[in-house]
Amino acid sequence: MVRVRFAPSPTGHLHVGNAKTALFNWFFARKYEGSFILRMEDTDMERSDAAYERSITEDLAWLGIAWDEGPLRQSERLDIYRSHALSLLEKGLAYRCFCGEEELAAARQSSLARGEPPRYNGKCRDLSAGEASRLAAKGQPFTLRFRSDGRPVTFRDGIRGELSFPRGHVDDLIILRRDGTPTYNLAVVVDDMLMGITHVIRGGDHISNTPRQMALINALGGRPPEYAHHSLLIGPDRKPLSKRHGATRVTDFRAMGIVSEALVNYLSTMGRNVAVELMDPDEIVRTFSLDSVSGSDNIFDMEKLLWFNREYLKRMPPAVLADRAGIDASRVEKVSVVRENASTLTDLREYMEMFDRAELRPEALRYLMKMDAAGEIAKTVRSRLAVRGGVTFDELTAALTVPVGLRKRDLFMILRAFVTGRSEGPPLRDVFPLVPLEVITGRIDAYLEHRHEG
Ligand code: GLU
Repeated sequence: MVRVRFAPSPTGHLHVGNAKTALFNWFFARKYEGSFILRMEDTDMERSDAAYERSITEDLAWLGIAWDEGPLRQSERLDIYRSHALSLLEKGLAYRCFCGEEELAAARQSSLARGEPPRYNGKCRDLSAGEASRLAAKGQPFTLRFRSDGRPVTFRDGIRGELSFPRGHVDDLIILRRDGTPTYNLAVVVDDMLMGITHVIRGGDHISNTPRQMALINALGGRPPEYAHHSLLIGPDRKPLSKRHGATRVTDFRAMGIVSEALVNYLSTMGRNVAVELMDPDEIVRTFSLDSVSGSDNIFDMEKLLWFNREYLKRMPPAVLADRAGIDASRVEKVSVVRENASTLTDLREYMEMFDRAELRPEALRYLMKMDAAGEIAKTVRSRLAVRGGVTFDELTAALTVPVGLRKRDLFMILRAFVTGRSEGPPLRDVFPLVPLEVITGRIDAYLEHRHEG
């Protein structure tokens, strides 16, 4: 029975790279009819915040992920980690380390100066049990360190194949801090073991922790799960995706009007060999496997995400789309006319303004001010619209003769600016019947007034 987990630290909003981790676990769990467990790694009391936990769970739900168990919180399981650490101490697989911060920092410096990795020098490793107990009894603070055998480790990563680590990579890492709280590696290992996790699917930034976690699980008498590390998202400059690149948090994409289907679909294709790009969740699950994931770089491309978003906006039933965009159901017909042009829900709402805001967008106004012929055309359109019973689009265009020296294209651009207030948009023929005449005349008046003043 497959059991996977998603284990975010609630120290910030859900990053899109972590959303990818969550989704890959979710696809995997669904594919093999397993369980998806949500675990909050909130042992960093200073930085963890219940508000972030709420925001993460909201974002996961928005992505369509439904966890089978959890959220479990590591902060509520501190005794469990402690007792496991102490069991290692009893078995001689961990030891007390009394070295102080300054001493450790100095040792780290001298290792670095010798060009060696900054590993613990093992000073307390061979303290006799009696001596260690005496110091502890005296109240000298200590950490618990794993007594590593330092052996080289090789494991088969479900995405990257065989990975090898040299002798000494697994060092005498701290498992319990002076205040008795567990370090990341200990808490993860105890939880993965007790929760019966079968597959750990996570970002490549955890690769070097894996041999440590395997050694710890073995020492605790458990069996390491299978590990699979997918690639981290990077920006077009090949640096880790961060705020400098623009939106990075799921909540940012939501706010900008990306629909969840598009984000899920785009992330599902990242670093994967897929035959077709557009897939609904069932199709993604059907075609998902760790074999289809490659360890190659994942450049996050906003343009590509917008492409996916447009595809979903085009395919959604107009009533559903209106609802998603918070647009009243009475305006569905208008939504279906403008949606082809919208890349996001925000865009869509902006396009909808053409039906009721008698304003000209700055670029449309600038364009009109440049075109001498616009004044004549404005008057003709205005008088035509005043005809009782209204006017059809064909009647209106028939009434407009292209002034000498004006291209037909420009005539339509001018007309578009008056009808929609914009310099681009859906076919004018489709929009025109839906724009109230007083909105169009309002725009014409706004233009005339501006021209007068200018
Ligand atoms: N809490 C860790 C993180 O947010 C994840 C740990 C893991 O997946 O093993 O990076």
